[in-house]
Amino acid sequence: MTLNKATEASFIPYGKQSIDSADIDAVVEVLKSDFLTQGPVIPAFEKAFCDYTGAHSAIAVANATAALHIACLALEIGENDLVWTSPNSFLSSANCALFCNAKIDFVDIDPHTYNLCAKKLAEKLAFAEREGKLPKVVIPVHFAGQPCDMQEIHALSLRYNFSIIEDASHAVGASYRDKKIGACEYSDICVFSFHPVKIITTAEGGLALTNKPALAHKMRKFACHGTVREENQLSDRGQGSWYYEQQSLGYNYRMTEMQAALGLSQLAKLDHFIALRHQLFENYSRLLADLDIHLPKLKEGLHSALHLYPICLSTKLTHHRKAIFQSLRSQGIGVQIHYIPIHTQPYYQNLGFRRGDFPNAENYYECCLSLPLYSSLSFEQQESVKQTLGQTLSHFTDLD
Ligand SMILES: *Cc1c(COP(=O)(O)O)cnc(C)c1O
Repeated sequence: MTLNKATEASFIPYGKQSIDSADIDAVVEVLKSDFLTQGPVIPAFEKAFCDYTGAHSAIAVANATAALHIACLALEIGENDLVWTSPNSFLSSANCALFCNAKIDFVDIDPHTYNLCAKKLAEKLAFAEREGKLPKVVIPVHFAGQPCDMQEIHALSLRYNFSIIEDASHAVGASYRDKKIGACEYSDICVFSFHPVKIITTAEGGLALTNKPALAHKMRKFACHGTVREENQLSDRGQGSWYYEQQSLGYNYRMTEMQAALGLSQLAKLDHFIALRHQLFENYSRLLADLDIHLPKLKEGLHSALHLYPICLSTKLTHHRKAIFQSLRSQGIGVQIHYIPIHTQPYYQNLGFRRGDFPNAENYYECCLSLPLYSSLSFEQQESVKQTLGQTLSHFTDLD
């Protein structure tokens, strides 16, 4: 059998943004205005996200990595503190703890949802308590847009006294038990990413949400050089209106007005984008039902944002994963791998982690393959993904 070669025009990426003329107009309007940064659009964007999620405060920043960093700083993570997260995530979920000189560790994933496993977390906490090594913060990651078992994780946080940062980079617009992710019902802080492959975009961009005014205040300060301006926050009051104080060592993590304008315009379409993703998800589940692969399953009682469509190859095809990946790419299907387990990266190996430490994440990594999923993907393109995937899997099955 010969496999088709793709032309550049027909390449279907695993994810991409949807930008319409309203988005473009919103950005152009800002470019013609007086403020390109620190103007009125950023507070409007933050308020719109508070209204959408129900959170008390929102801080817009340069990207989700910056949001995770200020979240860790606000929770006063430092040397000798422990932070736990999922190994099946992008690097930032763990790096943010290391930015603060804390120690990082991981909790293995549930092999069905690929999310941090609440049962494994409970076991690890019981053990850590005996050792006197409990974490200060746990960072669950809502993988592929499907919320983690937040009620269970939250209950554990009360028993073992840790804080929770949700890495909801995949889950903008998702819901858990009838509350939007971002409402911080079961967490201290929730972080979103607006990178172009995510659910809505601001090009680069991120947001930290919280219901705790003290955390909001600290995050805003860390995102803006560690400075404050509000009279009631100053240690030296009665100065002029020019006066600001640096109270901590902070960063310039600000978002621009153009990004906030794009984000506001995108937010108006968020629920529509997710509805389209659900149609595409169901269509894939129908189209791919008779292939010898494991399809992603959705849990009851929550509404996924469906950032990804991660399939797993069957055991007998897993050793061909690299060749299948290359073959699909060369035929114009932009599959991707989510994720290389963080602890297997050379940097993390140098910190002492070893292959075999988190077997569920490692086994999942060996067989996973994310198929294209984004709101402007067409049913015809999904049909073509199905055809190409089906032929490619048969090709490699016949090889054995
Ligand atoms: C994309 C992503 C990030 C980082 O987001 P940026 O906005 O690119 O910094 C962090 N965590 C997860 C799970 C992500 O998918």
